[in-house]
Amino acid sequence: MENPSTPSNFIKNVITEDLKSGKVKEIVTRFPPEPNGYLHIGHARAIWINFTLAAEFGGKTNLRFDDTNPVKEDTEYVKSIQEDVKWLGFEWEELRFASNYFDEMYNRAVLLIKKGKAFIDDLSPDQIRETRGTLKSPGSNSPYRDRSVEENLELFESMRAGKFSDGAKVLRAKIDMSSPNINLRDPIIYRISHTYHHNTGDKWCIYPMYAFAHPLEDAIEGITHSLCSLEFEDQRPFYDWVVAECEMPNVPHQYEFGRLNVAQTLTSKRKLKLLVDEQHVDGWDDPRMPTISGLRRLGYTPEAIRNFIYETGISKTQGIVDLQMLEHFIREDLKLKAPRTMAVLNPLKVVITNYPEDQNEWFEVENNIENPEMGNRQVPFSREIYIEQDDFMEIPPNKYFRLFPGNEVRLKNAYFIKCNDVIKDEEGHVVEIHCTYDPETKSGSGFNARKVKGTIHWIDASQAVPAEFRLYEPLIKAEESDEEMEETEEKEEKTFLDQINPNSLEIVQGFIEPGMRVVAPQDKFQFFRHGYFNVDSKYSTPGHPVFNRIVSLKSSFKMK
Ligand code: ATP
Ligand code: MG
Repeated sequence: MENPSTPSNFIKNVITEDLKSGKVKEIVTRFPPEPNGYLHIGHARAIWINFTLAAEFGGKTNLRFDDTNPVKEDTEYVKSIQEDVKWLGFEWEELRFASNYFDEMYNRAVLLIKKGKAFIDDLSPDQIRETRGTLKSPGSNSPYRDRSVEENLELFESMRAGKFSDGAKVLRAKIDMSSPNINLRDPIIYRISHTYHHNTGDKWCIYPMYAFAHPLEDAIEGITHSLCSLEFEDQRPFYDWVVAECEMPNVPHQYEFGRLNVAQTLTSKRKLKLLVDEQHVDGWDDPRMPTISGLRRLGYTPEAIRNFIYETGISKTQGIVDLQMLEHFIREDLKLKAPRTMAVLNPLKVVITNYPEDQNEWFEVENNIENPEMGNRQVPFSREIYIEQDDFMEIPPNKYFRLFPGNEVRLKNAYFIKCNDVIKDEEGHVVEIHCTYDPETKSGSGFNARKVKGTIHWIDASQAVPAEFRLYEPLIKAEESDEEMEETEEKEEKTFLDQINPNSLEIVQGFIEPGMRVVAPQDKFQFFRHGYFNVDSKYSTPGHPVFNRIVSLKSSFKMK
């Protein structure tokens, strides 16, 4: 794998120090997704950081499903997450589920109760929120805070036994209601939820809260460096409290890095799920989705994604990365790998009137002019061909060098043709144009008696293979990204759905070269002048290929 190491960064410095001082012997990290949706491009950064940093120091990485909230979790997500991590090119040491530790978590909670560090609260979730205080004012103690250890133990046992309904009681850590860090104001650590769990079934009706479960999971697995995105920074004091008060033998430490935000790209599972549920897209792997599976179906390669992530680096700052930077890396990756062929997306028939009707010929053409190792192929030519509608104009504007009446252009790899006649239907639409070719001008013949300014592509009509092309624009209109859209309630939900680009998908029907009749899903091509395309794995059939445009050819983007 290229870039098997990370650029220099602050976490790497910490690890180097920890190894040098003997604080840790082996680096163990984990990637801990909650199986409540598909992975997105933002997760690729977390995956890459965890796996690459550990590997760089000869350590290991677990894939752990943080499945402590059964209401939102599903085995479909468990499956897709594993597939995506593998596809990105990473191998986990062990596959773990937080839910496998429910017994131990329960026992650790009991330990907290016995130490007088946790209590059962009868306040409702709303009351707890109301008494939590604000950044400026302290919270107030719950009237149930001083229950005896015996009563707390008995009530916790009853909670577990299913004697109370959802929300009737919670277990809270007993820390400090006036702490400047709100996360330390007696946070809830267990709640009642009579919900079937994808892994533990009906065994439990109480579930640990994420902030309590996560440090325990890390400690149980012997994670040395628990790497997560910046929004968990305020949780770190509670993380350390849990590990210490629960008397965990292994002591993991949490380090935070900046989230990856990409312009015009949603990186929130909740929002992506809304797009799927409300059918704004064709499932989680819709080629417009910034999910790993969407990017794969669109035609991105693991190499391109890894190189992109590498380039964006690891830091504490969370800027917004230009979408064009991601596109730059797929162009780079496919430049020498993808065969370069011709495809006509919006066909216009051209009859070459002086080309004999019973004649046809084959041109030998390089598959990739920049990579001779890809060999050559044969492209047929005969009296009728298709060109792009855009490559002909009856009344051309200034500086239009393509085909118009009286003008001559080069057909890529073939001859010069000159337009003589325009055939129209009753409504005046151009349906066909008539040209003549000059046999002297055959490509490769060294002809240089006269020059033309335009070169256009074409497909031999008699052997053209019909194909569908799907052209995409970002799902979210320009100037909007996740970060710019403030995270607030219902209002925000509306704003983000309002930003959906109604023109994000355009489907056109055209033709490809006959040599491409047999293509397989995920085959990638560069179509001359149109960009890079990938064979769609859902809609493409052996007789009728469907191509997703991954990216167009040109970009104003320049790597620094
Ligand atoms: P979402 O808000 O989309 O649901 P999440 O953070 O809740 O994302 P998790 O499944 O909990 O999703 O994430 C697993 C890991 O991926 C976490 O450690 C989280 O820090 C990290 N992560 C999630 N989104 C990003 C991002 N945009 N950039 C970097 N890391 C991320
Ligand atoms: Mg999360």
